[in-house]
Amino acid sequence: MSQVRVRFAPSPTGPLHMGGVRTALFNYLFAKKNNGKFILRIEDTDQTRYVPGAEDYIKEALEWSGMQLDEDPWQGGEYGPYRQSDRKPMYRQYADQLIEAGHAYYAFDTAEELDEMRERLTRAKVPSPQYNATVRMSMKNSLTLSADEVKARLDAGEPYTIRVKMPRNEELRFQDIIRGWVQVNTNSLDDKVIFKSDGMPTYHLANVVDDHLMKITHVIRGEEWLPSAPLHVLLYRFFGWEDTKPQFAHLPLILRPDGNGKLSKRDGDRLGFPVFPIDWKDAVTGEMSSGYREKGYFKEAFVNMLAFLGWNPGTEKELYTMDELIQDFSLERVGKSGAKFDAAKTNWYNQQFLREQSNEVLAVALKPYLDAESLTYTDSQLPTFIELMKERASFVSEMLEGRYMFEKPSEYDEKTVSKKWKENSGAILTDLASQFGQTVDFGSENLHEVFKSHLEAKEIGMGAVLPVLRVVVTGKGAGPSIFDIMAFLGKEESVDRIKEGVQKLG
Ligand code: GLU
Repeated sequence: MSQVRVRFAPSPTGPLHMGGVRTALFNYLFAKKNNGKFILRIEDTDQTRYVPGAEDYIKEALEWSGMQLDEDPWQGGEYGPYRQSDRKPMYRQYADQLIEAGHAYYAFDTAEELDEMRERLTRAKVPSPQYNATVRMSMKNSLTLSADEVKARLDAGEPYTIRVKMPRNEELRFQDIIRGWVQVNTNSLDDKVIFKSDGMPTYHLANVVDDHLMKITHVIRGEEWLPSAPLHVLLYRFFGWEDTKPQFAHLPLILRPDGNGKLSKRDGDRLGFPVFPIDWKDAVTGEMSSGYREKGYFKEAFVNMLAFLGWNPGTEKELYTMDELIQDFSLERVGKSGAKFDAAKTNWYNQQFLREQSNEVLAVALKPYLDAESLTYTDSQLPTFIELMKERASFVSEMLEGRYMFEKPSEYDEKTVSKKWKENSGAILTDLASQFGQTVDFGSENLHEVFKSHLEAKEIGMGAVLPVLRVVVTGKGAGPSIFDIMAFLGKEESVDRIKEGVQKLG
């Protein structure tokens, strides 16, 4: 078999939605698994929809997710250019080839004439009015006009389109790796525009020509392109490229968490989670859409989550690094039915990856958050702080829950105080403070010992004291072991806090 070559072919019409990143990921995994090439092609034939900044966004999002490109518009490659607008002069000859072979024709219909046609058909109760085998013979095109008239119109520079001549009543069949055989009757398809008089091809022509010229072996893309695939298959036949036609794999949709429809760009932050890989600022409206990166997700968690939207390994294994995904990925294990997005699961992945990071790596990630809050700390404190907080956090930022390790509590958890603070609490804590004050070994284990033996001697139950000790030292009702926290704070600070708490609450 020839070398596997796959492409991710986004249109730069805005920020890349996470569904787009999932498509890129499945292409990447498939390429790497098969020692193939992963190519980025920018499909910008529709210049009216071009959004400045979108290309850079795509590049950055792929880089952040850890997908290395083998060929792209920036580094180039053997089959460039990789931006369709830069390939503009290459397409015309293919449109001409189809016209000469009788598979395509010139159409001169104006926008008003096309509207009239649709209205006429709607009035006649045609279910889906379209420019097709029946309609084309009543329109203004090179099939109905004389050769002289067509020439005269072209010479006069009249705007035109080139439409594909869809054969009548023919079954088009192709095999999709994920869906099996797909069959469509040409009667349900229309004469799509493949070229415009501004010299630009439309998506369909450019896509097929480029996949052919770039020697793409597998077209892996979203399900929304499935309806276009029969036309593409037909174009391969018209061009005589059937032998090297790529294989198709149409990925399932990503659905909203409630299963109610496709997760779309417009869902933005509305559902309480980002739908974009990285932040995006709309240059025109100034509107911000948040991304996974800036929300503090690890790229590993983001990629792991995306991989499971539509794919699964068929085992219990859920945590995957990129290399492991490459090992285990196969298109055969991608399902047909829509994959429901699950925000809680995404946070769970993040929690798992957070736990796997070394304290040194987490310290680097944590510092900006501590600095933003102007908390005072020394670098040497961070590993211990992180060790205490990481089990309880899904995000690095959540470790700030333990900020009381760097500053005195400014208030005391009301629920704990109202439920646990009793008349004798102040006295017990004052006694304890003096015990701790005399303790030389201020390590966590020893503090626990001192605490236990003091309570035993006084015949006081732990349940009465632990919550109030915690609340005066940290201000909170819950957290890591209070003795670990006191060991972190040191004797002076711990004893101070207990005394201060007693004063304020007692
Ligand atoms: N330009 C199309 C898109 O934006 C590419 C579809 C395909 O991969 O063929 O998704």
